[in-house]
Amino acid sequence: MRVLLTAALLAGSPAIASADVTIRFIANEGVHISDGETGVLIDALTWNSYDGTYALPSDEARTAMINGEAPYDDVVALLFTHIHGDHSDPAAAVEFLNAQTGAIVAASSQITDAMRNNETALDESADQRMIPVDLSASEPGPWPLPGYEFIKGAWLYHTEGVDNITWHVEIGGVSILHLGDTQPQAEFPVWADTDFDVILYPYWFAQTPEGIAFLDSRPEARAIAFHIPAAATPLTIRAGLGEREYLFGEGSEVVIETE
Ligand SMILES: [Zn+2]
Repeated sequence: MRVLLTAALLAGSPAIASADVTIRFIANEGVHISDGETGVLIDALTWNSYDGTYALPSDEARTAMINGEAPYDDVVALLFTHIHGDHSDPAAAVEFLNAQTGAIVAASSQITDAMRNNETALDESADQRMIPVDLSASEPGPWPLPGYEFIKGAWLYHTEGVDNITWHVEIGGVSILHLGDTQPQAEFPVWADTDFDVILYPYWFAQTPEGIAFLDSRPEARAIAFHIPAAATPLTIRAGLGEREYLFGEGSEVVIETE
């Protein structure tokens, strides 16, 4: 019986694991992580470019994400790392929840409070699909998102007074960490027991000894930089990052091949 069961599992596993995982870039630190069946958006709806310093999603991408149109038609959760406007748009998050009755939003309570106090009102059912993440320096997590155990959040230091939730998403067997605006000087024990296939990090990690030390401590992970200023060019990016991998420009993507 045991042998048969094992054989059945083995026969089934290639099909389950064969869907490649795509990390589709939107703007700044916004990504769509998807295996074609299940998708998650992180920091993807934003409103503040800080006077053009950081790119925003195009109107087309914004509308498609809010309404769940392809390629965003598989999105089950919209996650945000923190309240800064180059990472989150509370008004758009309300529109997203109102439009997509099967999806949830999870974010720090600074963001969910802003969603509740928004000019656009949350529909009644939308209110229940908005999950405040109450992690802090003293209780950093990791914290599994209820009902979405493949998603975990953990608090890491960004700047005083702003809660920064880093997100671990495991889709199609691929383990991905999104660091938000974590400071390289932060302490990382919160993720010490988690293995990553991919680490998405703000580019300044590659320009500070502490950030490089963190990336070097995870040699098994494919490290990909983002949060690159909108005015960057391939030349300035190369000057700043050397040969390191990065995501820049709406629609650019990294495909993680699974076995
Ligand atoms: Zn920030």
